[in-house]
Amino acid sequence: MLPLYAVFGHPIAHSRSPDIHALFAAQEGVAVRYERRLVEGSLHDALLPFAAAGGSGANVTVPCKEEAFHLCAERSVRAEQAGAVNTLIRLPENAWRGDNTDGIGLVNDITRLGVSLRGAKVLLLGAGGAVRGVLGPILAENPAAVTVANRTAAKAHTLAALFDVQAALFSELAGTRFDVVINGTSASLAGENLPLPSNIFEQAKLAYDMMYAPQDTPFLRQARGGGAQHCADGLGMLVGQAAASYALWRGFEPELEPVLHTMRERLRHA
Ligand code: NDP
Repeated sequence: MLPLYAVFGHPIAHSRSPDIHALFAAQEGVAVRYERRLVEGSLHDALLPFAAAGGSGANVTVPCKEEAFHLCAERSVRAEQAGAVNTLIRLPENAWRGDNTDGIGLVNDITRLGVSLRGAKVLLLGAGGAVRGVLGPILAENPAAVTVANRTAAKAHTLAALFDVQAALFSELAGTRFDVVINGTSASLAGENLPLPSNIFEQAKLAYDMMYAPQDTPFLRQARGGGAQHCADGLGMLVGQAAASYALWRGFEPELEPVLHTMRERLRHA
């Protein structure tokens, strides 16, 4: 029987994880099954038949990452910091260990792009699950300062207190410059511009949108217009978090560049 993995979420039909993991398995020179599993009730219930079929690892996406966190018998430090789990690793007795590879996926992609977070002034836009998930790994890189700015102030303040960083509203950013600006809001998904003062990009070495798309997202258009030196979308983060999950399951570290190249081509022609 082939090793069995899957991604759980709702919706799930759009997920590119099976394609990415098929490319990793080809690199490793093995055959694996990696399925999309729609979660219609609880994640707990969706995992039972998967475990019974021999499932040995899973990715978890929206809106199940918090439930995944709570159902795990063991959790990594990264998962504890994130308060969410995107990777499940099978333990004996139908139990799961939870990890969160989103942050390391982002940090590795920023490194791949040739930008160092060490000593950098970093602005994170948004205060939802994605931003919470990346704050720990970003802080581990020793930036000079991190600011979390969000439409809803209370959520930014909660995260700022949890991680000991600055909080702001978008309107309070005027006149401030950042080296790295990361969009972790879902505004680009809705095709919306963020109400950002344009001069925040004047000294930005990198503007990074966690969302990915065949063409510039609204945020990346804003950043280019504001003078950001380099702009990138979140496809590299997606491939990076998947690679970290794959390594946790199989002990094999996939090479990212060829997979990213293939996924970029497929996205362009989708
Ligand atoms: P959440 O729903 O948890 O949080 C959404 C955030 O976006 C909140 O801070 C919300 O602000 C803000 N927001 C939504 N719409 C707007 C708007 N129109 N203007 C301003 N702010 C807005 O989502 P996630 O944190 O899970 O995901 C955020 C993004 O990150 C998504 O685009 C997702 O696709 C992407 N992502 C990418 C990954 C990758 O591997 N590339 C991995 C994980 C996420 P408020 O609090 O005011 O509501």
